[in-house]
Amino acid sequence: MDHLRVISLDRPKVKQMKAILPQRYYDFNTALRQQFGCRVQKITVDAGFSCPNRDGKISSGGCIYCNPQGSGTGAHARGLSVTAQLESGKAALTRRYRAKKFIAYFQAFTNTYAPLDRLQAVYAEALAVPDIVGLSIGTRPDCMDPAVLKLLEAYAREYLVWVEYGLQSAHDRTLNLINRGHDFACFETAVNKTSGRGIHVCAHVILGLPGESRQDMLQTAAILSNLPIDGIKIHLLYVILGTPLAKLYQEGLFQCLDQEVYVDLVCDFIERLPGRMVIQRLTGDPHPSELLAPAWSLQKAQTLSLIHATLEKRNTWQGRLRDGTAVFDSTLGHQVFNALQQGLP
Ligand code: SF4
Repeated sequence: MDHLRVISLDRPKVKQMKAILPQRYYDFNTALRQQFGCRVQKITVDAGFSCPNRDGKISSGGCIYCNPQGSGTGAHARGLSVTAQLESGKAALTRRYRAKKFIAYFQAFTNTYAPLDRLQAVYAEALAVPDIVGLSIGTRPDCMDPAVLKLLEAYAREYLVWVEYGLQSAHDRTLNLINRGHDFACFETAVNKTSGRGIHVCAHVILGLPGESRQDMLQTAAILSNLPIDGIKIHLLYVILGTPLAKLYQEGLFQCLDQEVYVDLVCDFIERLPGRMVIQRLTGDPHPSELLAPAWSLQKAQTLSLIHATLEKRNTWQGRLRDGTAVFDSTLGHQVFNALQQGLP
């Protein structure tokens, strides 16, 4: 640990830091506030897309943990248009968070897996809704063709555009085991083709996948930290009823992480991410009626507060084990970290 230049903070400095720095990582709300100057919330949209890992093109079983509904809200099946979903999300999030701007988040299944004209119609419908300032498009790295990238690049000149690529692990043996249907090289290629166009790239990872050691997971963090990735979602692996993972769990072939182990892992993971990378998520959010295990995954607020408390207790932060310094560059809190590291008052 010596080479990390960890400093011990005296009491006044800790007080000063706590007063200014709300969190020890670069969270999405902060990033959006920096860009838009107000509270911005994502609204989940179900546009009725499918997934090649479910419709038989790649496989029909899907990823072993995947909810057969593909994390969809079912809104499309209920006949709700993209506009109707966004208007109802706006009303709810304005009440709850006093949000003023919104991002249309295409989350269910694979949201670039359709003919270009259909994609264009759906994205354009979302962007025509008042106060929608951007798109966030969840997809697979093997479902991004050049024409779609060009379309998103054009939108990115006027709007905030995120592409969220599912990866889950940087280890091919894990990707095989969980039936992702693509390898790490495919993800890397998609990231490299997407970056440099004004489009923000987010990677999804899961901690606690079958067969993965702590070392494996932290290697994923280190590998991702060297790619042009702007954001990350860290998920807890939980078991949804009716999935192949549920069968493994019920047969005793797979165990879920304990909450304490997960919290420590998340802290270890974000210590290895660059400070510029926006952390969009730190745990999972299962639906109670679909969850098999672990029960603690329903206590999202408690898990988040344990992560925050552990970062404080360890006196650590995002990026500390990547380059030894806090590299957030646009908030006062980050400057305080840098000043403290240099022993300045
Ligand atoms: S790629 Fe996504 S929607 Fe498709 S099977 Fe995997 S988790 Fe489910």
